[in-house]
Amino acid sequence: MNQITIILPDGSHRTYAEGTTGQQIAESISKGLARDALSVTVNGELWDLFRPISKDAAITIHTWGDDEGKHAYWHSAAHLMAEAVESLFPGAKFGVGPAIDDGFYYDLDLGDHSLTQDDLKLIEEKMKLLAGRDVPFEREEISWDDAFEYFRKKGDQYKLELLEGLKEERISLYHHGNFTDLCAGPHIPSTGRIKAIKLLNVAGAYWRGSEKNKMLQRIYGVTFPSAKELEDYLKRLEEAKKRDHRKLGAELELFLLSPKVGGGLPIWLPNGTIVRETLETFLREEQRKRGYLPVVTPHIGNLNLYRTSGHYPYYKDSQFAPIKVEDEEYLLKPMNCPHHHQIYLAKPRSYRDLPLRLAEFGTVYRYEQSGELNGLTRVRSFTVDDSHMYVRQDQLRDELCDVIDLIKLVFETLGFTEWRTRLSFRDPRNKEKYGGADELWEEAERAIKDAADIMKLKYFIAMGEAAFYGPKIDFMVQDALGRTWQLGTVQADYVMPERFNLEYTGSDGQKHRPVIIHRAPFGSLERFIGLLIEHYAGEFPLWLAPVQAAILPITDLQLDYARKVYENLRHVGIRVELDDRNEKVGYKIREWETRKVPYMLVIGDREKQSESVAVRQHKKGDLGSVPLLDFRTKVLQEVQTKAITR
Ligand SMILES: [Zn+2]
Ligand SMILES: [Zn+2]
Repeated sequence: MNQITIILPDGSHRTYAEGTTGQQIAESISKGLARDALSVTVNGELWDLFRPISKDAAITIHTWGDDEGKHAYWHSAAHLMAEAVESLFPGAKFGVGPAIDDGFYYDLDLGDHSLTQDDLKLIEEKMKLLAGRDVPFEREEISWDDAFEYFRKKGDQYKLELLEGLKEERISLYHHGNFTDLCAGPHIPSTGRIKAIKLLNVAGAYWRGSEKNKMLQRIYGVTFPSAKELEDYLKRLEEAKKRDHRKLGAELELFLLSPKVGGGLPIWLPNGTIVRETLETFLREEQRKRGYLPVVTPHIGNLNLYRTSGHYPYYKDSQFAPIKVEDEEYLLKPMNCPHHHQIYLAKPRSYRDLPLRLAEFGTVYRYEQSGELNGLTRVRSFTVDDSHMYVRQDQLRDELCDVIDLIKLVFETLGFTEWRTRLSFRDPRNKEKYGGADELWEEAERAIKDAADIMKLKYFIAMGEAAFYGPKIDFMVQDALGRTWQLGTVQADYVMPERFNLEYTGSDGQKHRPVIIHRAPFGSLERFIGLLIEHYAGEFPLWLAPVQAAILPITDLQLDYARKVYENLRHVGIRVELDDRNEKVGYKIREWETRKVPYMLVIGDREKQSESVAVRQHKKGDLGSVPLLDFRTKVLQEVQTKAITR
């Protein structure tokens, strides 16, 4: 029998017999790996562990610990669910059933039957039973005609439609137990790996996402290798529901989504605007210290501007259609960059003028399908804390260091302690797919890596993840619930300087191209604040809190003094409200507690006589009476230092 060479992720080479499977390789490495392995990447393709490898290959074995492993696991659970559905609802037709970030779904056509919560319970129980049989998943490669015949006989029109789009491709079916699906794979070795199962909910979903098609029923579910993991997940889900920014946004009157204004067009209410402006002021001040120059540009621009940048027509599906005015066409701006490039071009630039750092809180517009819109995280208009830095190649590293420093400061100030960075570089095997000269890319990647080292970032390098116009740094931040968000992208750009013919005169008297750095620590302010609301569970740190203190007189007899306290604090810029309603103080406290205001100042006769305030802190309760001026100093200090705790 022939031998093949297998290269493992650590670079080591091993020899196996031709036809060895990923599972056998895992077994030859360790018992633990053999037990935990779920799928395998073979020469860049995701495979089942049970698929024979017939030639030399670089492989990576996936477990529950990585995304690929989880995907194979959850997608296999989708097949298991389909089997359960088919046995309970004979004649059920199946759309698609992919793994998603947190579990899986399957789209079903059950004719007239609308699934109920009781149905979900039944399906869940059936899945547990089927999983317990521990039957293997099997892959079968067949001709297109045979596959078509199979699903025609079965009467599954959705699979037939999917097959129509796969005419040129190799067709594979996956079997397990009594279920067969049209599927590219990969799948886990057997159903027995699925230990804990929870079907979460049913929603309507148009076939292939189009409103012109039939509405199918989509069941969402999640599975885990142990009951404990499922329990932890459900707890986190419960906590996430409590923290949902859409719910808190309404309760705390932060923002409004009005169908009369339009889907995905958030309206900032006074409380939310205070949070937003406070964040903007913080960043503006930092940027001023670092030599950024503020600019303001209009919300629309001539279509030709975006033809030059390539945003039109290449990204036209994610933009609003052009607006015709007289003989010209305009675009609601999808990006701020082209406007800023015009500022660069407005006068001749010399090497001494660089770096030029233009900054704007610029609102942009993107077309998102109405079904995709979600609170503040998926919207049609949002504001980017945008900056374009025009730098010489020899300045790139130092500028990147400064940008990294600023982003670190933003994360630290807002209390994000867990984050890592990805350096997204070119795919070295596919250089032609990127714009810009080869040696510039090499220099840029070196500059990025040097900057990451100098700034002591925890990073990993992702080959092939660069944008086509340049390498980038992505920051992945973990929120209080342990969820990962990508924030604060920094990109080097060699293509736009060419397209816009940006130049500067060098010390040699010759024309040179600058490099552009695009960067936005918050990214979209809408999405960022949505994240902050959930991260803090609506309990903003004092410096960001829309109302920092509520003044609660016990009776009308203290009203005069309460007004004095109010004026005194407001005068120095503390955000206070006076609750002079004719209500019991206990009632007022409970209400301000639900509004998550950091401090409540209870004013009785004793406070009035001693010029003091009785301080209650949100969630912590009574802190006792302190002189008014002491409280004022403490708050001002806490705001000044942007203290995170409250
Ligand atoms: Zn599948
Ligand atoms: Zn840009």
